[in-house]
Amino acid sequence: MRTLPLFQTGPATTNFQECCACGKTLMRVVDMVHIINGGNDVLHPDDEPLYEPDAGDCGCFPIGADCARRLGMQWTFLAPRYRQGVI
Ligand SMILES: [Zn+2]
Repeated sequence: MRTLPLFQTGPATTNFQECCACGKTLMRVVDMVHIINGGNDVLHPDDEPLYEPDAGDCGCFPIGADCARRLGMQWTFLAPRYRQGVI
């Protein structure tokens, strides 16, 4: 199961209108990350089926475009409203 260390002390913010990595206000939520291990790591979207939620599961939070690029887009997934076929 692939994980990527992202945070020292958990998400910068858990406000859904802000980037979880830097706290910048987002005009729209497009890219999301799944934050696990108590807020320290990002779970690779392809490994979602391998992950068994535990006490360290923080859930999914929006990430800004700049931070998503810095992280690597492969670690992010589209917010449900932007997925094809979802209205
Ligand atoms: Zn950011």
